[in-house]
Amino acid sequence: MSLRSSLGRTAVFTLLYLAATWLGRQTIMDGTNLSLVWPAAGVSAVWFLAQWRSRRRWLDVLALSVVTIVVNMATGAPAVLAVGFVVANLMQAGVFAYLFRRWLPHLWGGGGDRPLARLAELWHLIVSAFLATAAGAVIGPTAGWIVNGVYSWPATAVWMTRNTVSILLIGATGLRLGHALHRWRAARRAAPRCGIVPPVGRHLLEYVAVVVCSALTYTVAFGLDNGLPLAFPLLIMTVWAGLRLHTAFVVVHDLVFGSTAVLFTLHGDGPFAQIGDNALRALIAQAFVGMVAVVGLALALGRDERVRLLADLRASEKTAADQATMLVAIVDSMAEGLVVMDDDGRVILRNSAAARLMGGVVSTSGQAADAGFYGLFHPDGKPLSTGELPFRRASESGEPHSIDIVVRNPGVPDGRILHVTATPIPQLVDGRPCTVNIFSDVTADRRHRDELASFAGVVAHDLLNPLTTVEGWSDAGLSALDEAPQHPAVEDARDGLRRIQRAGTRMRNLINDLLAYTTARDAALATVDLSLDAVVSELATARVDQAQSGGGPVPRFTVDGLPAVHADPVLIRQLLDNLISNAIKYTGPGVVPELEITAVAGDAGQVEVRIRDNGIGIPDGQHARVFDNFHRAHRTAGYQGTGLGLGICRRIVERHGGTISAEPNPDGQGTRFRFTLPAATAGSDRREGRRREAHEDLRLR
Ligand code: ADP
Repeated sequence: MSLRSSLGRTAVFTLLYLAATWLGRQTIMDGTNLSLVWPAAGVSAVWFLAQWRSRRRWLDVLALSVVTIVVNMATGAPAVLAVGFVVANLMQAGVFAYLFRRWLPHLWGGGGDRPLARLAELWHLIVSAFLATAAGAVIGPTAGWIVNGVYSWPATAVWMTRNTVSILLIGATGLRLGHALHRWRAARRAAPRCGIVPPVGRHLLEYVAVVVCSALTYTVAFGLDNGLPLAFPLLIMTVWAGLRLHTAFVVVHDLVFGSTAVLFTLHGDGPFAQIGDNALRALIAQAFVGMVAVVGLALALGRDERVRLLADLRASEKTAADQATMLVAIVDSMAEGLVVMDDDGRVILRNSAAARLMGGVVSTSGQAADAGFYGLFHPDGKPLSTGELPFRRASESGEPHSIDIVVRNPGVPDGRILHVTATPIPQLVDGRPCTVNIFSDVTADRRHRDELASFAGVVAHDLLNPLTTVEGWSDAGLSALDEAPQHPAVEDARDGLRRIQRAGTRMRNLINDLLAYTTARDAALATVDLSLDAVVSELATARVDQAQSGGGPVPRFTVDGLPAVHADPVLIRQLLDNLISNAIKYTGPGVVPELEITAVAGDAGQVEVRIRDNGIGIPDGQHARVFDNFHRAHRTAGYQGTGLGLGICRRIVERHGGTISAEPNPDGQGTRFRFTLPAATAGSDRREGRRREAHEDLRLR
């Protein structure tokens, strides 16, 4: 605030306060030294609000004190009383400004830039006015007591009513006026919400009617000497204005006609003038003005609030409708299919791409369709069971589930490979749990990948021959060197051959893994009922034997409750072997590997197998990535590997319609792997022997 505007305000308020104090002193009731009205209370309240943040506040305090003393003494008040009034007025204005700024900081005068516009704000204004007056009343009437020697409770009651009403009426007027001035200055910077007011033009006649009728009724009630207590019909005017007209007009109406009532009373006219007792007369006149002010303001602000709420509601309804239209347009323009389904498979929302990708086969509304209805298969041609549908898996686990599905029906007789991701929606839709399913056509991509993989498989297979030759000749070379005499050149040659051997071993491991991966991916599944317990026992015995003969720490196995599963025996053996060999490999130096292999019944006819180890664990954030091909979490820690083992495991599990995951061992050091497989069924096919032949070339890790 600039010095000029601050001093300007101080000057304007000083003059206003001077006029208000002088006016107030003119309404002193006979023999009491007590004024019937005290507009200065309202003026000082607005004054302190307006100047609260001025750095020259002391000037305002000084001006208020000087004016109070001068006017009071000039109008016959003793000096002690005048000083008492100074303190009381300062206290009152200060408490009001403090409470107002604390409770209504968003309003003009409280630090913000909004006008008084809500009912709750009006109640805060009334309470601030009452408490501020009470603070002043502790001092004002006490000063009167010191001067007169008697404490007058009626005088205190008059003080309280008169000043509260004054702060409320003049305060509300000052706040509207101050805000209007602020808006006028800051024109466009005003908050948009402040603009919701009924336009004056349309109601001009009504404004004139209210003014004329009010003037008439007040004249009849107060001016004509009818001797009747006709104050109550005047409220009708306030209610009319409050319900229909602009809030600023209502404030001015309250102020003007409230003052009219007081002026008539002072003049000895109207229903209140008949009351003989001074204090009682003042009290009732003030109570009337206060009630008119509160009723008018409450009605007007309540109406403004309703208008604003309605406007907000309409705006948010429009925004919601616009957003819905935009979302529909976006969803329909997507190249990916999008289907929202409930947990029974009923389609709640589907875009046009979804229908196109499914070959035009769509369920009718409310129909819970299964995999057979759409013609859905696994990539290896096995029909997809309804329990394997991604939306079911996602609903059961609460986690997103992705899978490749082949759709083959009259709309797509040649089949189309779709990559589907189902994600559970956190909220219920129409009271049911739902999933959003996104799918895209990956036929070309998968064919390309398959060609590459087959090519890699052929190349890997063909590389084994020359590798065997290299290994054979390096062995022969080393044996020949054993008989050669000691010579540095011979030592160099021996060292070179050993390096060739180590590189050959690494290459053989890689080729074996590549072949195993291709087999896990491509070979047709030959599923039978098979005992997991038997496979694990066989693998565990082999590992123990290997450790005993190699001289390393002998792993300890705890195997419990492994059931029979319905799966491809060769692939399952490879899956378990990979996981067990990792659990033994990834242990700290000198640590005896401890493995616990257990199983529990899973959802929808599945078995969940858990392998827990006491190894070095997988670093945080990599528990999902270790299943990616060639991802190695301990590359720098000296552990050898190709990063393909867990990729093979995932492939095997997924081909059996299951899931695999890794997590930190919940019981301490190490890792826990969990995977699901279909539980054994009676009457499974008996093609194990035939399939074993197909896997003849398979190299286990
Ligand atoms: P690798 O041939 O490197 O063993 P895998 O695909 O079998 O490849 O495993 C990927 C990575 O996951 C490994 O390099 C290792 O960092 C980590 N890993 C696998 N199993 C375990 C385990 N039981 N404990 C700790 N880390 C493991």
